[in-house]
Amino acid sequence: GAKLEDEIIRVQQIIQAAEMDFQLEGNIHLTHTPLLVENVLSMCLKEAATNIVKHSNASKCRVSVHQTDTEVIIQVQDDGIGISGKIDSFHGHGLQGMKERLEFVNGSLEVRSHNGTTLNIRVPNIVQ
Ligand code: ATP
Ligand code: MG
Repeated sequence: GAKLEDEIIRVQQIIQAAEMDFQLEGNIHLTHTPLLVENVLSMCLKEAATNIVKHSNASKCRVSVHQTDTEVIIQVQDDGIGISGKIDSFHGHGLQGMKERLEFVNGSLEVRSHNGTTLNIRVPNIVQ
């Protein structure tokens, strides 16, 4: 499927339109990933990029995509002001929606604030 690849191109465009540097790392061509999982990952990337543009005040954004035998790991990092609070406190907003959709496909979201914000998105290759 080309869905994630298409979303990454759009993300690159919105980051660069906001005059931030965009860096992509890893292999964006996923293999044997269910369409549902790819759709969820695309939604997460879009929301992460929207948040970076809206909230981070960053100058750089880095996206890395890695697929192992068992899972897909996407990291979205910015060098902005960072994020405070836990995901659970972001009721009804983008991060909470991301977390719920990821859990629906047995994935997870981890948010870290250190020299900016880093989102760690993990999803198993096979939805059990
Ligand atoms: P919505 O996504 O519903 O339009 P929102 O973007 O405010 O609203 P979330 O995406 O859940 O909601 O984000 C929650 C809060 O976390 C934001 O309001 C913002 O304060 C902070 N935040 C999110 N991403 C970042 C980021 N990359 N850098 C700094 N702060 C962030
Ligand atoms: Mg948001």
